[in-house]
Amino acid sequence: MDDSLDLFGMPIQAVPIRSGDTRECPECRRPFLPYKRAEGRQVFCGTECRVRAWKRDNPDGADLKARGKTLAADRNPEMLQTFRRLARELALEAGEVCIDDVRARAELLGIRYESGNWIGSVFSEPGWQFVRYRRATHASAHARPVGVWRLS
Ligand SMILES: [Zn+2]
Repeated sequence: MDDSLDLFGMPIQAVPIRSGDTRECPECRRPFLPYKRAEGRQVFCGTECRVRAWKRDNPDGADLKARGKTLAADRNPEMLQTFRRLARELALEAGEVCIDDVRARAELLGIRYESGNWIGSVFSEPGWQFVRYRRATHASAHARPVGVWRLS
């Protein structure tokens, strides 16, 4: 984890701290010398304590990335389910499938959809096995590598 960013990816503002200005870590209760602090946020002695405190306060969201994906998926549950169904059909037909294949099938079937973060959740469910990365062909993906998956 980048120590100059907080758990939400926001930059931690560096402020001058006088030497001898120690304080107690709210997590492990050890005294420490803070060298920077985030405005309006609790200051911990280190990343470990920061993460431990965050996980305790957010028991359902231990993995921020997974949480973000779940939230994004919740915003478009119907289209996510449609794409997951198409992905499974394609995997049964072709063995391996990536998100570009699913997009192409959706377009072939005349399914109108709005791209969003939920697209990244199509293979985030049990039953899929990651195979490898391949270059994306979808125009807006800018040739980013996309995962190739097969049913496990
Ligand atoms: Zn600590």
